[in-house]
Amino acid sequence: MKLLVIGSGGREHALAWKLAQSPRVQKVFVAPGNGGTAREAGVENVELSGNAALVAFAKKEGIPLTVVGPEAPLAEGVVDAFREAGLRIFGPTRAAAQLEASKDFAKRFMVRHGIPTARHATFEDAAQAKAYVDGHGAPIVVKADGLASGKGVVVAQTVAEAHAAIDRLGGRLVIEECLQGEEASFIVMADGARALALATSQDHKRLLDGDQGPNTGGMGAYSPAPVVTPQVHARVMREIVNPAIAGMAQDGTPYTGFLYAGLMIDASGAPKTLEFNCRLGDPETQPILMRLKSDLVDLIDAALDGRVADAGAEWDRRAALGVVLAAHGYPDSPRKGDRIEGLPAPAPDCRVFHAGTRAEGKDVVTSGGRVLCVTALGDNLRAARSRAYEAVERIRFEGAQYRRDIGFRALKR
Ligand code: AMP
Repeated sequence: MKLLVIGSGGREHALAWKLAQSPRVQKVFVAPGNGGTAREAGVENVELSGNAALVAFAKKEGIPLTVVGPEAPLAEGVVDAFREAGLRIFGPTRAAAQLEASKDFAKRFMVRHGIPTARHATFEDAAQAKAYVDGHGAPIVVKADGLASGKGVVVAQTVAEAHAAIDRLGGRLVIEECLQGEEASFIVMADGARALALATSQDHKRLLDGDQGPNTGGMGAYSPAPVVTPQVHARVMREIVNPAIAGMAQDGTPYTGFLYAGLMIDASGAPKTLEFNCRLGDPETQPILMRLKSDLVDLIDAALDGRVADAGAEWDRRAALGVVLAAHGYPDSPRKGDRIEGLPAPAPDCRVFHAGTRAEGKDVVTSGGRVLCVTALGDNLRAARSRAYEAVERIRFEGAQYRRDIGFRALKR
């Protein structure tokens, strides 16, 4: 069969690559894809955008399964449009995707269903928001309500910083208690009633080594995340994931698709939910899928048929680690058009997933902020990290930025 993946980032390159491995799949179309998916075996880019064009393409090609990568098309109702046309697609409906599209919706949902999260208040008015900050003091977290690609959150260390964030972000704001602990990414596949946990992971949101510099979409990730011990894992399923899936069903918006819980785990191992995303994480997907031994098409089929919890996924016991190479000027004003050299041939233990790249004749050039994610497997995290950086150091493009310390938290343990 032929599949369709919607999106153009590193997550979608990894998805397309993994789906194309299935013996049941002849071809994976990616709309619109990038310079990496353009060259991937069994994968073809299609220049399409908008729900109507995507639905028409899936009908014309007789595509039995579409997988959505990013949040924007989900929030625009691509799943609803495919379902109305009688097409199978994996992802949450527009109503269910509010779990990510509105922080206020997500917070009210969590409070309603007893899911542990930071205490919060929502404001439409800047003066009231500032008064709340004055009453609570710093550190405190200010979040824009809507989708902001990771740029809508300020962890303010002082009251003045929080006031400045309120003025800068504007609109409806969620202000919440600053949680302490270690973060982890916990992603599941949900079938409307139950969930299957994928391997755990941890990403690195800041631009610079030692978690310094501005927030980004993510500069690297690894799997598994040692902070998620078997005990923590059981608590996350019991206290967060299962109540979330049950709560969505109870509220009349059953959740089908990948669901990402951003967690803060305190010193006692108690998990709290920082946020929900209605999709796989980027770059967490790249190391996670490098470790997935099961056929992803079978798992998605199981989720669409309502039997995901029985499916069971098989994982490579090795660790995987991905390092993001970003463009000059990222995250504020990434430069495009720099020629990329030294890309290694794919190896069983090391692959380069493309994000902001474009094929230009025989060359590949930069075309976005996060350019590549070099992802490697190793017997342990240290080995995976050495293997990834060995490849990173051979790749060259003008102004490339990357962190040298991906995995440091796990290695410190
Ligand atoms: P979010 O998009 O809500 O996950 O926020 C982005 C990042 O901001 C998170 O990965 C955390 O590093 C940080 N953050 C968000 N909410 C909190 C909080 N309540 N306490 C501490 N850090 C937070």
